[in-house]
Parts: sequence; structure tokens; C-alpha cells
Amino acid sequence: MTADPIEGDDTMKRGPTRRDVLGHAARGAGLVAFGGAAFYLTSKADADGVWVIDPEKCINIRLGATGIEACEECATNCVLPMSAVRAVNDFAKCGRCCICPGYYEVTSDTGPDGLPTRKLCPRDAIERVPIGEVDPEDPLNNFYDYFIDESLCNGCGKCVLACKEPAGLSSLRLEVRYDLCTDCNRCSIAMVCPEDALVRIPADPA
Ligand code: SF4
Ligand code: SF4
Ligand code: SF4
Repeated sequence: MTADPIEGDDTMKRGPTRRDVLGHAARGAGLVAFGGAAFYLTSKADADGVWVIDPEKCINIRLGATGIEACEECATNCVLPMSAVRAVNDFAKCGRCCICPGYYEVTSDTGPDGLPTRKLCPRDAIERVPIGEVDPEDPLNNFYDYFIDESLCNGCGKCVLACKEPAGLSSLRLEVRYDLCTDCNRCSIAMVCPEDALVRIPADPA
């Protein structure tokens, strides 16, 4: 891969800007987020199909479904002890908001730093990592990456429902993780999903 001329030339001379940092973070995190899924899909290419969540049907993901309780059927109905459905952050969409509505319980009391005092995730599965130097004089004007700890997330969907326009940018979504799912012939989540959002697709669409 050839070097990006901006990274290779200008950055060396002027030092990294916040935009540079954001660009690096987006590309690196995006590869992590999508590389794994692509690998597992490829590795299952000889299987007859895989279960996926249709984002236009799932009530936690689809646009327009707001002001409701998160559907937790994916978290509670998988045959596995810990659901094969997990939240993922699509870093290409994420605004790296200082006050992420998927991370914070935005209706909780505000602390002295101007930030909400409670987190939204009941399992504390989201890590908030500052991008670059945090300006202590201007705490609300910083950017953050949000990483899902897959060992803690059970796919309850609360963060996904909250990170939805107009409050968020819908970068958080739920996915059936191919590396975890045992490919039940009849997915037990599909049997209870109120939106018929669990669908079977060919493992190798080509
Ligand atoms: S059960 Fe259906 S509607 Fe509920 S979170 Fe899962 S896919 Fe979405
Ligand atoms: S889906 Fe639920 S458990 Fe997973 S990160 Fe979001 S709020 Fe936390
Ligand atoms: S197919 Fe089985 S293991 Fe996979 S998500 Fe559905 S219930 Fe869980």
C-alpha cells in the first residue's frame, strides 16, 4: 500500500493535528471492526448459510424507532450462555462525540465537568478513550473513541437504541457474531423476534 501523501509529507513537517488523529483512529478501528467479520464469513463460505440481523427491521437499529424500551430478546434468547449477538461500533459512522448517548445515560445529573454522571450500559462494556490530548480548560470540546468490550457485551441493545438520529449517528448496531454463533438450524432468537429481523442468508453471497 502506498503512503498517503498527507500522512507521509505534511504530518512529518507540521506534527499531527486532531484531524490526522481522527483519520488514523477511524481507519485502524474500522479494520478491526470489519476485518474480523469478513474473516469469519469467508471461513464459513462452505456452510449453507448464516444468521444475520436485518438492520431495517430490528427495532433497536432501524431509524425512526425512538422513545421506546430497548428490545432485549437477542440478549436473553440465544442458546448460548452469553448471546452470540453483540454490539459493534461502526467507526466509519461514529462522530466520536464527547457526550455519546450510547455511552452516557444522558438524562442523569450533570457533574462538575459538564458530563452526565451515569453510564448507559448495564454491563460497563463500553470503553471511552480520548483522542489526542484532552484540553482541561475545555472538557466538552474533545473527541473520544468508543470500544465495545466483547467479553462483557451481551447484546442487550440499549446503547444501539440510544445511538440513533437525532441524538446519535447510528454507529452502534447489533450483529450476530459469526465466530460465536453455533448456526442453529432454527435460531431461538429468530423464533421470538417481534420484528422477524433474524434472517438466514447464504454464507457466500457470490
Ligand atoms: S429480537 Fe429482533 S428486534 Fe429484538 S433486538 Fe433482536 S433482532 Fe432486534
Ligand atoms: S448492547 Fe448492551 S451490554 Fe452491549 S455494549 Fe450496548 S448496552 Fe452494553
Ligand atoms: S443461531 Fe443459535 S447460537 Fe446463533 S444467534 Fe441464534 S440462537 Fe444464538
